Amino acid sequence: MQNYIENLRIAYLSLGCKVNACETASIRSQLEACKSRTVGFREIADVYLVNTCTVTNIADRKSRQMLRQAKKRNPSAIVVATGCYVQEFYENHQDDDTIDLLIGNRRKHEVAALLQGLLEARACKKEFPRVFVTDERSLCEYESMEHAAATEKTRAYIKVQDGCDQFCSYCMIPYARGRISSRTPEDVQSEVEALAKKGFQEFVLTGIHLSSYGLEDASPKERQSLCRQDGKAPLLALISAIASIPGVRRIRLGSLEPRIVTESFVQALFMQPKVCPHFHLSLQSGCDEVLRAMNRKYTTEQYLQSCRLLRKYYKQPAITTDLIVGFPGETKEQFQETEAFVRRCAFSQMHVFPYSRRRGTAADKMDGQVSEEEKQRREHRMLIVAQELSDLYRRENAFRQTELLTEEKAVVEGRTYWTGHTLEYLNAAVLAEEGIAENRLLAVEITEENVGKYILARRVRQ
Ligand code: SF4
Repeated sequence: MQNYIENLRIAYLSLGCKVNACETASIRSQLEACKSRTVGFREIADVYLVNTCTVTNIADRKSRQMLRQAKKRNPSAIVVATGCYVQEFYENHQDDDTIDLLIGNRRKHEVAALLQGLLEARACKKEFPRVFVTDERSLCEYESMEHAAATEKTRAYIKVQDGCDQFCSYCMIPYARGRISSRTPEDVQSEVEALAKKGFQEFVLTGIHLSSYGLEDASPKERQSLCRQDGKAPLLALISAIASIPGVRRIRLGSLEPRIVTESFVQALFMQPKVCPHFHLSLQSGCDEVLRAMNRKYTTEQYLQSCRLLRKYYKQPAITTDLIVGFPGETKEQFQETEAFVRRCAFSQMHVFPYSRRRGTAADKMDGQVSEEEKQRREHRMLIVAQELSDLYRRENAFRQTELLTEEKAVVEGRTYWTGHTLEYLNAAVLAEEGIAENRLLAVEITEENVGKYILARRVRQ
């Protein structure tokens, strides 16, 4: 059979989260295995693939824009749209001739076969369907995909879980991604082993709801507590299996549900020295009433307890979070309550999002929608607080010894530095000297100074 993909120039664009980035890398592996050539998205290509996102209205708009841009760049190219936006809105694009193939979630492992099918049909002047979308709601099996070519040069993102059963009232993801499903530990290990052999030292475990890893067949009570009857979260066993793989030096965890962070969970994590002291616990609001309206399943007191536990075991861990401001019904007083609460949590970094209305969600129908101007005002205020907290964390960590993974060189004010991330995910730089190269783990001390956008670190001789 003729390989129609051979030698095609294929450009990729991944929008949205790290899970999407992992999947795009995996699709690229599929197509490179068919001997295609990967080119940049701004270049002229024969095929453009956009892995879309639908987390906010802005993400939807960007997905549409990028697809149109691709067709404009090369009108004779094949444009393939995959991912969450396609899953939710493919019906709006039934007659849209800028997109040649619409491939929903859980059909992404078929991209190479579908592209080959389209090219073959065109060569024989035959018809070929445009839409390949499966109803996510009925699926609970993990979509097994090609092992990914890594998404970054020195840090490997590993997708281990898909789907979400939480149904936060503002979120479309459970509709776009379906029920929870997990990758088998064997499959994860074999990908990590392959990447460790290529020299990767840091592995970031990602999922749509990472804390639900391994719980698809669990009882409602176990799902609620995010651990098995024996009190153990299946995620812990996966972490321990990865930690034992030769070459793995650092394991970083993607976003965690605050409810999984119990004393026994933190104790077990702490026994794994390769786990970085950097934990992302999504908060979303620091007001219990708003959390209830969001259908988040924890209180501020439970959240704070998770932060306390992390700080009990780890010395000054980096705790980062996401926050939504201007949720329907959020009053000015409730916003102030959130501001006071985030100060108590002392986050090292916060991602602040103004609430974005999503058609089809419960929050879209709620009374008390906050005006765009007020959302912007709250976002602006919260970003100031985020900066203050991040500066405070920085000051408290000055002169602390840690480890830096060298990622890329940067020249700042005429001097050359190696830049990268510390264990706590601080973006730091050390002066370049002989013997330092990319992907090295260096013992460093954090200073109080900055060089450009980086924190200056000094090497510590051991
Ligand atoms: S936990 Fe909530 S916000 Fe996160 S993907 Fe699930 S429903 Fe969406």
